Amino acid sequence: MLYLIMSKIKKYYLYIISGILFFGIVYNTPNSNKKEEKNMNKTVKTDKEWKDCLTPEEYKILREKGTEMAFTGKYYKHKEEGVYICAGCGDNLFSSKTKYDSGTGWPSFWEPISGDKIKEEIDKSLPFVRTEILCNNCGGHLGHVFNDGPNPTGLRYCINSVSLDFKPKEDK
Ligand code: FE
Repeated sequence: MLYLIMSKIKKYYLYIISGILFFGIVYNTPNSNKKEEKNMNKTVKTDKEWKDCLTPEEYKILREKGTEMAFTGKYYKHKEEGVYICAGCGDNLFSSKTKYDSGTGWPSFWEPISGDKIKEEIDKSLPFVRTEILCNNCGGHLGHVFNDGPNPTGLRYCINSVSLDFKPKEDK
């Protein structure tokens, strides 16, 4: 008798647990999807994941805010038409239409492809304060922006070639 009662309780207990798990899964799934949707447009990676997908040079500059030697980068003399994208996440950053020769030895642009593609931060790593430029999507370090650029903006976005990849303009 006691055994029968115990086995019934066990059965109901199992039903209750299964019910809780079932509703837990059903009602939690949409919430977790919502959380993913919020971050959908941002590339978020751990330090190890960045190390695994970037070359040591890219990691040094993009993730550790390094600077390539002037006149050594693959894009400072580059003149093709197209779009310069982030080497970390592939987001569009600068159009070749805004690229100019600043004489500094780094690829220079007078404007990003759109304001929301880059993020600015104050950089106090040198005795004088600079404005650091980062990719707004993945947080990768790109370079700095200065006030000695040409018209129409008067700005000079001084960018490491290593932080960039290039997408040539498609002929139509
Ligand atoms: Fe990026």
